[in-house]
Amino acid sequence: MRRYPLLIIGGGLSGLAAGIRFARFGQKVLILEKHVKAGGLNSYYHRRGRLFETGLHAITNYAPPADKHAPLNRLLRQLKIPRRTLKLRQQFSSEILFPERSSLCFSNDFSTLQSQVAENFPDSVQPFAAMIAALDAYDPFTPRPKISAREFVSSFLHDTLLVEMLFCPLMFYGSSDEDDMDISQFVIIFRAIYQEGFFRPQGTIKDLLGLLVTQYKNFGGELEFSTGVKEILTENDAIIGVRTASGEEIGCDYLISTAGYPETKRLFATPDTAAKFSTATEDKTSGRLSFTESIYLLDKPALKPITETRTIIFYNLSEQFTYHRPEKAVGLNSGVICFPENFEGGQNSDYIQLRVTHLANYDAWRHAYDADDKSLYAAMKKEWSERSKEVVCKIIGNYQKNIVYEDTFTPVTIERYTSRTQGAVYGSPEKIKDGRTNYENLYIAGTDQGYLGIVGSMLSGVTMVNHHILNKI
Ligand SMILES: Cc1cc2nc3c(=O)[nH]c(=O)nc-3n(C[C@H](O)[C@H](O)[C@H](O)COP(=O)(O)OP(=O)(O)OC[C@H]3O[C@@H](n4cnc5c(N)ncnc54)[C@H](O)[C@@H]3O)c2cc1C
Repeated sequence: MRRYPLLIIGGGLSGLAAGIRFARFGQKVLILEKHVKAGGLNSYYHRRGRLFETGLHAITNYAPPADKHAPLNRLLRQLKIPRRTLKLRQQFSSEILFPERSSLCFSNDFSTLQSQVAENFPDSVQPFAAMIAALDAYDPFTPRPKISAREFVSSFLHDTLLVEMLFCPLMFYGSSDEDDMDISQFVIIFRAIYQEGFFRPQGTIKDLLGLLVTQYKNFGGELEFSTGVKEILTENDAIIGVRTASGEEIGCDYLISTAGYPETKRLFATPDTAAKFSTATEDKTSGRLSFTESIYLLDKPALKPITETRTIIFYNLSEQFTYHRPEKAVGLNSGVICFPENFEGGQNSDYIQLRVTHLANYDAWRHAYDADDKSLYAAMKKEWSERSKEVVCKIIGNYQKNIVYEDTFTPVTIERYTSRTQGAVYGSPEKIKDGRTNYENLYIAGTDQGYLGIVGSMLSGVTMVNHHILNKI
C-alpha cells in the first residue's frame, strides 16, 4: 500500500494551498481530486475557441504590497509566490443598488464607502464609525457560539435601509446562512469586501490554477486527477488512509478534507465511525444556498454609462433584502451583475463579458433535471434566463440583441462539478473554525472551515497545515 505523511481530499484552491505549504518543506504529500482538473468551485471551460470562467467574479482581500500583515500578502509569502508574478488588477468600483435610486458605491479605498454613507445616510455617520471600530477590535477566528450579525449591526445602525444595503454584497459573496450570518463571518467578509476590496490577477482562473499546480509540483507535491475518495479508513479511532473509487487503498499519517463537512461525514463506512466524526445531523450541516449564473458574451451593445465604471453591481428590487432559498426556481428580486473585464489594466476586446448571478432553488432544478421529460431542464434554463434578462436590462441597458454566446449553470451543475450537496456554494452553515475533528489526525479545510472566498479558502489550507501538522512531523 502506498503511504504518505499527508493526504489531501480535493484539488480546489484550499487543497492546492495546503499541499504547496506542506510540500515546500520537502514533505511527501498527495492530493486526490475527483475531477479531471484542479480548481473545484472555480473552474473554466472552452467553447468556440474561447475560455469561459465558472466561479471567479473577483477576488476579495486586495491589499497594497506594503501591508505585510494583510491576508493576501501573508498568503503569497506562505506559498512562496512572488506577488509580482500575479500582476494584480484592482476593480474600477462597485455599487449596491436598491429601489428609489438608493445607491452606495465602494472601491478598494474604504473612504469611498465612508463618504457614500455620509452623503446618503448623514444621520448614520457616527454610528457607522462606531460599528467599524467594534468590527476592527473583533477577533473572528476564536471559536465561540454563533452570534447574529444582524443583531450586532442593528445595535449600531438604526437606518434599516443602510443595514439591508450593507448586508447585500456580504451575503451574496459569502453567507452559508439564510438571511443572517454569524458575526465572525460578517467581520471576515466585511473586511474582505469593503475594507480591502476586489482584484483579479492578470489572465484567467486557468492561469492562476496553472501557477499553483506548477508551484506544488516544483516542491515535489503529487496530484492525481479523476481519483475520487470513496471511503475514509479508520483503525482504533484514528484515520489510517482512504479508499479511492477504483478500490485502491492509500495510507496516511494525516488527512485534510476540503470536500465539505457533511460530504466528509458521508465518506465514513459505518454509522459508528461517522458518528465519531460528528454527531451533527445532515439537516444542520447541509447548506441550502445555491445560485444560477448566466455567462454572456456581447458584441458591444450600447449599455448605460454605469457599465463602464462599475466592476460589480449588487441589486435588490425591494427595500428589504432577503437572502434565502427562493420559492421559485430563481429569485430575480436580487442579483449580482459582474463585468469581469472592468479591472484596471484591462485590454480592449471586441466583446464584453457579462455574468449575472441569482439565488436559486436546488429542489426545483433537481426535479427538472431528473424528470422523465429530458427537455424540461433545458426549457427551464431558457425560461429563467429570459426572465433574468428582462430584469437586468432595466438596470444596465438592453443587451438582448447583442448576445453572441450565452450559457447558464444551475445548482445541479454546481453539485455535479464540485460535489457540494445541493450545490451549496458556501458550504455548511456549521463551520469548523479550528479545523479539528474528533479524529486527531483528520482536519477540515476550505469553505467549511469558515474562511471565505478564494483568498480565504487558500489561507484556510495553509493555516490547517501550519497549526496542526507541520509542528508534528
Ligand atoms: C459560481 C461561483 C462564483 C464564485 N465567485 C467567487 C468570486 O468571485 N470570488 C471569490 O473569492 N470566491 C468565489 N467563489 C467561491 C470560491 O470559489 C470558493 O470559496 C473556493 O473556491 C472554495 O475552495 P475550496 O477548496 O474550499 O472548495 P472547492 O472549490 O469546492 O474544492 C473542493 C474540491 O474537492 C473535490 N472533491 C470533493 N469530494 C471529493 C472526493 N470525495 N474525492 C476527491 N475529490 C473530491 C472537488 O471536486 C473540488 O475540486 C465562487 C463560487 C462559485 C460556485
